[in-house]
Amino acid sequence: MENSADQQVRVRFAPSPTGGLHLGGVRTVLFNYLFAKKYNGQFILRIEDTDQSRFVPGAEQYILDTLAWCGLSPDESPIHGGAYGPYRQSERKPMYKQYASQLIEQGNAYYAFDTADDLDAKRKEIPNFQYNRATRTGMKNSLSLPASEVTRLLNENTPYVVRINMPDSEELIFEDLIRGEVKFDTSMVDDKVLLKADGMPTYHLAVVVDDFLMKITHAFRGEEWLPSAPVHILVWKNLFGLDQMPKWAHLPLILKPDGNGKLSKRDGDRLGFPVFAMDWTDPNTKESTIGFKERGFLPEAFVNLLAMLGWNDGTDQELFSLPTLIEKFSLDRVHKGGAKFDYEKAKWFNQEWIKQADNTYLASLVAPYFDAAKIEIHEASYLVKVIGLVKERCQLLTDFIPQSSFFFAAPIEIDTASILPKWEEKKHCFFDELAKLYLADYEQGQKMKSSTELEAHFKTLATEQGLKPGDLMLPFRIMLVGGKFGPGVFDIVANIETKDAAKRIQYCLDLLSKN
Ligand code: GLU
Repeated sequence: MENSADQQVRVRFAPSPTGGLHLGGVRTVLFNYLFAKKYNGQFILRIEDTDQSRFVPGAEQYILDTLAWCGLSPDESPIHGGAYGPYRQSERKPMYKQYASQLIEQGNAYYAFDTADDLDAKRKEIPNFQYNRATRTGMKNSLSLPASEVTRLLNENTPYVVRINMPDSEELIFEDLIRGEVKFDTSMVDDKVLLKADGMPTYHLAVVVDDFLMKITHAFRGEEWLPSAPVHILVWKNLFGLDQMPKWAHLPLILKPDGNGKLSKRDGDRLGFPVFAMDWTDPNTKESTIGFKERGFLPEAFVNLLAMLGWNDGTDQELFSLPTLIEKFSLDRVHKGGAKFDYEKAKWFNQEWIKQADNTYLASLVAPYFDAAKIEIHEASYLVKVIGLVKERCQLLTDFIPQSSFFFAAPIEIDTASILPKWEEKKHCFFDELAKLYLADYEQGQKMKSSTELEAHFKTLATEQGLKPGDLMLPFRIMLVGGKFGPGVFDIVANIETKDAAKRIQYCLDLLSKN
């Protein structure tokens, strides 16, 4: 069972702040969040920054910003606070040592005094060297050295690490909420370092101690952490007892579009789609990576598409808001197998969310893209109106620029090549006349305001001149927007007004005359 009725659910997302957040990481956040909210529990963000060599400045803020953008705010975190802080492992350093000492006293861990050079030499001597039950006796540690030598080394403050003492051929079993029973043979696992020479714990020790101290009830993490589970189980067993261990669920991988392996940032670069939630620039290499947000995804769509990567509600329904996901989410509908990422499908989700989004809300999201494109918006209400006209044609928020820039400024590039093959003098006269009528109309105080009126007027004029209105629509559209796209032509005229339309017609007629 996912959860017993009386248990206060506490889940955590425990990223290492090493760079941008992969969409798989955000999906882990989402599943944690959905589960916590479904059971009125707490969702905790814990920063696992004990590996100082991998620490990247700005990465923690990026994680917080991503969670805020997605609307998946933690109840407890380094910035939200909470009763179980600090929430950065680097600030909890003094808490871990006693647990490492306890494991040593119990014989579940040992001191290892091998220097970096000793280890390098071993790696050269033995290909794929592993520090484990087979090799540990030949190394410099408290299991291989006489007790007096160990005491001497400790008294002389010789640097050491603490390693787990992996038992011989013991079967470790745990019940994964997604995978069911998972078994490990300890003889396949090496003696992982638990405490480093600088007194910092490694992830393996810190994750267990913190899950215990923070009273975590369920730990959901990516499948890539499954091989570490035997280490964690042993530490749990030896420090706190297995009955205290959170229930675990290892979430399926998000796979490359062809299903061949885990989706990586490099796949996104290669295939031209984002893999990170938001733009990320590595402060060391200065390498920038595009995010879903900046590519023009709505947070609602991003959350929705992530939910569907490895989960469904048992029906064909694909569009879910966050509150509905909270209501419907259950771990027994999370798939065991990996979920293929399909960028076209991701865009479909976004398009569906754009279609149903409120136009004022969309305007607030789209405005920065207009700013960046240096398109001035004089009236916010005008942008809202335009959004309503073009949203059906936009898959990404960035599409609003090409799909609507002509509502704000006349196009410069005109696809005259698409007009010329069927162009004739009669049509030239018609548009010349139309431009004059539009100008006169505007000067007399804009009588033709609605698109219906404009359409009727256009058709009457065409018929009077012996032309089929249908033959004039494509050139007219190109004159107004520059190409073969955009919403209804008369909706465009009604919005840019007849004076502007007249100018655009004239500009295009001049271009056509030059051909
Ligand atoms: N610190 C690990 C990470 O970077 C957390 C794994 C876990 O949730 O146990 O993803």
